[in-house]
Amino acid sequence: MATNVQVTIVGSSNVDITALMDRLPGPGETVLADSYRLTPGGKGANQALAAALAGARTEFIGAVGNDSHAEIALGQLAEAGVKLDRVAHTDGATGVAIISVDAQAENSIAVISGANATMDAPAVNAAGELSGILVLQGEIPASGIRAAFDAAREQVVLNLAPVIELDREYLVRANPLVANEHEAALILRQLEGSAELSTDPEPVIARRLCAQGLSSVVVTLGGEGCLVASLDGDGKVDVTRIPARKVEAVDTTGAGDAFTGALAARLAHGDPLVEAADFAGRFAALTVQHHGAQASYPRSLENL
Ligand code: ATP
Repeated sequence: MATNVQVTIVGSSNVDITALMDRLPGPGETVLADSYRLTPGGKGANQALAAALAGARTEFIGAVGNDSHAEIALGQLAEAGVKLDRVAHTDGATGVAIISVDAQAENSIAVISGANATMDAPAVNAAGELSGILVLQGEIPASGIRAAFDAAREQVVLNLAPVIELDREYLVRANPLVANEHEAALILRQLEGSAELSTDPEPVIARRLCAQGLSSVVVTLGGEGCLVASLDGDGKVDVTRIPARKVEAVDTTGAGDAFTGALAARLAHGDPLVEAADFAGRFAALTVQHHGAQASYPRSLENL
């Protein structure tokens, strides 16, 4: 049992197959691609790598298949010392994202969940105790997310991306909920049961999320940084804006996952939420200066 683990991530791991081409094929069309690369991905695995590189003793709990992609999916995590003994090795395929990118950096993506789809309630319950800060995303079945919430022993960081239907009683237990602007509006619509997506400014959306019962919310704003909203002792919502470090961004793939993993690592270290979000923003700003997702995550915190 992983008693000294500080951050546990229950979620997805994939292999990303990225093909580079002049233009994306239309329906029924074949185009010749220039090259392709196989890289590890999946929001759960990305966040686990970020948490470990940000200094937390980290465990990843997920599922891979019995194919050659499994080793690629977990390779960077193993190298970073992430605990992997409770990753299930299933009979099917490892999750795959097939990403086509054209010369203008426009992309189209098809995700095959593969083994990630087996991370349902029985699979999560079979894993047993979840130690430390728990981090969850939206790339495994909702029943697995609910089971992980039920097994959590400490606070749960929920990055519900993609936004899937999750019962109110679980959504409001996120502390914090981490969402980009678009996801925050979608989750607010779920919680308020409204038909329309709110066009309110982000601080108002964050306040409305807290009014629905969330004790803290972090809204990420890309190159603009992030907003932290949290309930104080008197039931008042404090909103703090944290600007992003000005950097030359070449590829923001996986920046949100870097942010969430680093945030969890600092919360596990005992930082208050605003300080943890400031650290996470500086960590994520390092990643956007390099290509790729996991490949762009900093192996040293010297330039933070
Ligand atoms: P993605 O889906 O691309 O991983 P996301 O939409 O979930 O990202 P973003 O809000 O784009 O998340 O980015 C997360 C965090 O990364 C931001 O809050 C910010 O701290 C940092 N970041 C992103 N883009 C930049 C940038 N251009 N310059 C500096 N920091 C950035």
